[in-house]
Amino acid sequence: NRPKLVVANRKMHGNLPDNQQFMQSLLQQTRHHRARYAVCPPHPYLYQAQQLLQNSHIAWGGQNMSQHERGAFTGSVSPLMLKEFGCSYVIIGHSERRQRGFDSDETCGIRFEAALQAGLTPILCIGETLEEYEQGETDLVVVRQLNPVIAHIGTQALSKGVVAYEPVWAIGSGKAATPQHAQAILSFIRGHIELLDAEAAKAITLLYGGSMNPSNASQLLSMPDVDGGLIGGASLIADDFIRICHIAN
Ligand code: 13P
Repeated sequence: NRPKLVVANRKMHGNLPDNQQFMQSLLQQTRHHRARYAVCPPHPYLYQAQQLLQNSHIAWGGQNMSQHERGAFTGSVSPLMLKEFGCSYVIIGHSERRQRGFDSDETCGIRFEAALQAGLTPILCIGETLEEYEQGETDLVVVRQLNPVIAHIGTQALSKGVVAYEPVWAIGSGKAATPQHAQAILSFIRGHIELLDAEAAKAITLLYGGSMNPSNASQLLSMPDVDGGLIGGASLIADDFIRICHIAN
């Protein structure tokens, strides 16, 4: 009976007034919910998120992070910095970064560990491209993406984080995976972990992401292995995101 987790990945959207409206509406309209929520704005707005959300039931997080604590890495943000601005979560290995060569299966394992060490909950994104989907390679791809992380940190540490299955063809396309497909792959992922560690498989939070919206959320979230959602486009309008939160709760 894992409580649902709904995460807003606002990507490179928003500004100070829009973020404020989004976060304040979310705060006011989800009080006393049992489900867990997090907002991931672009990094410059984490201070604003901290100011608006601290001591509330809503968490916030970064959209990416370096594996290094500090150093000559122009343009990067360290786990300690995310922590200093009160982040609970950090997204690791989003396909929009993998596809541009910024993240690999290997660096994701290292970053996942660095996040845990800093006291952040990593949200590891995995998922196949349209071509891989059409070739029937989904299982292969998610195992290829998951295994380096497991090899690097083990299943116990993995289960302290979150894994989000985000088929690339469903992201921003308006074509969400069917609830059956999302369930099949998340159940496969949980089963893969279970082969190594039954306890970790039970504990880990698994999300679905890709064109989840207020119309399809209830079917997707009712699937037994879908512990929540990672929401892109539908997190840009507060009312849409809040409707998904109400469904998750
Ligand atoms: P969309 O909800 O816009 O498809 O984006 C999903 C996503 O990439 C969340 O990380």
